[in-house]
Amino acid sequence: MSADYTVHGPIAVLTLNNPPVNGLGFMTRLGITQGLERANFDPQIQAIVITGEGRAFSGGADIREFGTPKASQEPNLLAMNRAVENSGKPVVAALHSVVMGGGLELALSCHYRVAAPGCSIALPEVKLGLIPGAGGTQRLPRALGVETALNMIISGDPQKSEVLAQVPGQRLIDRMAPSREALLDVALAFAAEISAVRPAPLVRHLPCMHPQGDAYFQYTRNMVGNTSKNYPAPLKCVDAIEAATKLDFEAGLLAERDIFNHLMQTPESRALRHVFFAERATSKIADVPEDTPKRSIDSVAVIGAGIMGGGIAMCFLNVGIPVRLLDTTPEALDRGLATLRKNYESQVSKGKLAQDVLDQRMAMLSTTLDYADLSIADLVIEAVYESMDVKEKVFKQLDAAMKPGAILASNTSTLDLNTMAQFTKRPQDVVGLHFFSPANVMKLLEVVRGKLTGKDVLATAMALAKKIKKTAVVSGVCDGFIGNRMVEPYVRQAYFLLDEGCTPQQVDHAMEAFGFAMGPFRMCDLSGNDIWWAIRKRRYVDMPHVKYSKIADVLCELGRFGQKTGAGWYDYQAGKREALNSPLVHKLIEDHRSSLGITPRHITDEEIVQRLVLALVNEGAHILDEGIAGKASDIDMVYLSGYGFPTFRGGPMQYADTLGLFNVIQTMQRFAKNPLDDAHFWQPAPLLARLVTVGQNFNGAN
Ligand code: NAD
Repeated sequence: MSADYTVHGPIAVLTLNNPPVNGLGFMTRLGITQGLERANFDPQIQAIVITGEGRAFSGGADIREFGTPKASQEPNLLAMNRAVENSGKPVVAALHSVVMGGGLELALSCHYRVAAPGCSIALPEVKLGLIPGAGGTQRLPRALGVETALNMIISGDPQKSEVLAQVPGQRLIDRMAPSREALLDVALAFAAEISAVRPAPLVRHLPCMHPQGDAYFQYTRNMVGNTSKNYPAPLKCVDAIEAATKLDFEAGLLAERDIFNHLMQTPESRALRHVFFAERATSKIADVPEDTPKRSIDSVAVIGAGIMGGGIAMCFLNVGIPVRLLDTTPEALDRGLATLRKNYESQVSKGKLAQDVLDQRMAMLSTTLDYADLSIADLVIEAVYESMDVKEKVFKQLDAAMKPGAILASNTSTLDLNTMAQFTKRPQDVVGLHFFSPANVMKLLEVVRGKLTGKDVLATAMALAKKIKKTAVVSGVCDGFIGNRMVEPYVRQAYFLLDEGCTPQQVDHAMEAFGFAMGPFRMCDLSGNDIWWAIRKRRYVDMPHVKYSKIADVLCELGRFGQKTGAGWYDYQAGKREALNSPLVHKLIEDHRSSLGITPRHITDEEIVQRLVLALVNEGAHILDEGIAGKASDIDMVYLSGYGFPTFRGGPMQYADTLGLFNVIQTMQRFAKNPLDDAHFWQPAPLLARLVTVGQNFNGAN
């Protein structure tokens, strides 16, 4: 049973004991109800205290049970809360550390609450596209007032116990303990004081109203509607809380349950729950056990003080890890240092960083021209020019200079990590750390696993990524790794759309309406059309069978490389990033079509979205099949954290699951018949066909 029962004089104490956060799984719920029963039957017991062992009172429903029969197995959360309310002897919740979701709903069902300072109290269900489903929307407004409760429920953000205890008229916290250590004693003393109160008070009996009722809810709906466009849950929170003010308590509970059940089925909530698990799953690597020993990384060296090197250095300085930066000339070092300082200064000027923190961070940064000065570092990351010859020189020097056991990492975007590892006598210590630009801002980090990369090196890289607050995903070695390999066919398909009748604006609008942060043409203008051109030129030679539209070459031949040249698929005004319609580009596209004898046709936004997203999905399926990605959800995390894929759709592979893989294949087969597209492009990846045959989807395939 996951709730321990102990007796302290006339008080029974039920201690939730389900690490790590005392999730209210079936066994814990059962433990609570059985403990209550035992206490109620024992004539020696006069009151009951419920508290939590370890790091939390309770983090809430055990979300591993979501969607499984266990979640509703009796006693479910509602039945458990009812049993608490119905206890003939008063129940006091002793709250500390984390009181969230179902944990707070349990506390609200108790007759009294005592809290330690520093408790994080929240109903975070909205972050999973849900509303609280065990009375939270009905009880919290009664305990805290409608406005405070509504703000908490809509944001899902935690509030501290000492702050909530100050809310005028609040009935959430009856007594504050002076410290976490004193909590149990204070709760026991409080329980003894109130043990004779019959009937003990219940939150459900408190009034729930707002003086300007209708006007307030209307105003709130307007505000919330504007900021939560693609997410239905926040507006539904308003509905549930309004119900608390208008209906009697039991009817309010039913209204809450209806809304909860409805939201559980929405694609948005499914996507958000998928992302929640996908994020946690990235660090689980099939053949690298969680207890794999890790190397300690207390100091880092970065080779190359360019765009990437500076950003990478900042990632480590920001978490207090000293960095030594090496480049080939004092000028290059000065330039790198100046850019880095400027970045920090701009944060200071925006009020995001204190001047003394800037000084501390800069003091942890040193520079050198000499590899011998790097021997203290536990990890070195090279971010030099993208050329195998340069990388060879650098890795050979690192092999000679770095201490045994140091990790040797490359930030390469396109080069073969296995080749680089062979430049050293310690290929097991070589790993790819593929940061995205700007490295100090972008969340995504692809951790590239070479053929010989040691498991402890991989485990260390993943743990370090967490420390520097990155979303790290393991990728095998291939051209472009996971993210850039998938984006190549996506962009290639976008060019076909121009050939057939679209404008860059239309394509970008369709993708942005789907939810992407940026459509493909704005993205290319930002990253540089010359980069894509270089990739194509290489592929024209290496992969002559791949069909390309030539429209992007025509653009590049005019030097329209994007924002950096003030012109690309769009025009740009000096110093501004706004993408302006370019009549010249329209003419260019029309002339290009005429030269090919193409009569443009109207292409719907739906077709645009399907062609581009399914291009990602098909390449993702190849990547999964080849073992470059360990699981479909890893691919989703790459796209969510690095490529602006809309979170409410859960990532490309999850989106394909939502469409149904049978439908995905049928749509691809339809696209393959389009003579202006590429039949080979739309050949479904073998994994897709296999999954359909066995009736599985991507995220059920792992
Ligand atoms: P950059 O040209 O801005 O900087 C490269 C730096 O390396 C320069 O300061 C140069 O002086 C230095 N350098 C060159 N040879 C050296 C040597 N032998 N020893 C020491 N220093 C040397 O390049 P960047 O954009 O920062 O890219 C660096 C690496 O990061 C490349 O491998 C690139 O593929 C990768 N990368 C770049 C991006 C991006 O968006 N720029 C994104 C991800 C990965």
